[in-house]
Amino acid sequence: MDRIILHIDVNNAFLSWSALYLLKNGFPYDIRDRYAVIGGDKSKRKGIVLAKSNKAKKLGIKTADTLYSAKQKCKNLEIYPSNYEWYLKMSKQLFNLLSKYTNEIEIFSVDECFLDYTNIKKLYGNEITFAYKIKEEIKNTLGFTVNIGIANNKLCAKMASDFLKPDNVHTLYQNEIETKMYPLDVGDLFGVGKKTKEKLKNIKINTIGDLANADYKTMYRLFKNQGVELIKKARGIDDSLVVYWKVEPKGIGNEITLKEDIMTKEELYPYLFSLSEHVGLRIRKQNKYAYVVVVTLKNNHFKRYNHQRKLANPTSSDEEIYKIACSILSEMWQDEPIRLIGIRLDKLTTSKIRQISLFDKDTSLNVDVLEKLMDEINDKYGSQVIKKASTDQKKLFHKRLK
Ligand SMILES: [Mg+2]
Repeated sequence: MDRIILHIDVNNAFLSWSALYLLKNGFPYDIRDRYAVIGGDKSKRKGIVLAKSNKAKKLGIKTADTLYSAKQKCKNLEIYPSNYEWYLKMSKQLFNLLSKYTNEIEIFSVDECFLDYTNIKKLYGNEITFAYKIKEEIKNTLGFTVNIGIANNKLCAKMASDFLKPDNVHTLYQNEIETKMYPLDVGDLFGVGKKTKEKLKNIKINTIGDLANADYKTMYRLFKNQGVELIKKARGIDDSLVVYWKVEPKGIGNEITLKEDIMTKEELYPYLFSLSEHVGLRIRKQNKYAYVVVVTLKNNHFKRYNHQRKLANPTSSDEEIYKIACSILSEMWQDEPIRLIGIRLDKLTTSKIRQISLFDKDTSLNVDVLEKLMDEINDKYGSQVIKKASTDQKKLFHKRLK
């Protein structure tokens, strides 16, 4: 059965989201309808364009242009500051909305994700109808527009969402690759950077179609293994899976009834250690990781109580479980005789890849997401430009999240 993958991408994310923030705070106009950009630090000459309105785009202003050159292109250009805290909120709202339909969502960046529709098609019907429906739902409930690409794999879904913007749904099924993708400039192929593009143009590979039909030997000579990968990509071949967290409520636990009541928490440590080994082994056997560690105690009056700790990154390591359990024990210790002790691992996940879950309410995850956002900006636009501002921003966030 062919897979059906959707790629959902927010149009001019930072600018749209800032527009909503400003409107919400009484700003008199919608900056999406003006010659506007979101800039790096305005006071620094090195500030760059992080996002632009469609009007600004029509004047030739591009993402990563310096603010100086952007102003040359448009004398009345309005520059607004970025607001990462707000962007994270909007991002989370988007992914929460989508997670109503499936948990098979891979967050690709702060404003993009892949959704595996294959298994839910029987529930929601035709994927194109579904895409239009969620596009409208996002617009009506969250106030911003998205592009949705539909294809049989992630690569083509991502390519499709990049076709005519904004507020559109496009398909790029297997049988549409030659007509819809081959005519595009080779630089438009996902993963082809500036340098690769130049090298390809030097050997007269101008379109994605040229690359798809390129000679393997020549490509290998020039690009080694990447050359073969490039040809595969140009042909729209991609087997990578949508990687998502699957959280299961059922936990793994072990308890020990003690031969005699234990009076000090230090005496309980060896029991905790042995329990950590037990549950650790069981969870690893199932190839799972736990988001939550719970310690249970029963006192000499048969009163049971427990404390738990939620982790930013799930674990399956004995040592980590033991350390966390000891610290939980200290928190809950009431200096009374203990008859039973137990450890339970909860909120298990099957994915082996440590990925950020935006659906989680744990604030420490927000920091991870923020860091991912910063990494992304640095990747895209060069660390020298953003570094200082982002470091400051991070500190600010850590403070606010505390
Ligand atoms: Mg986007």
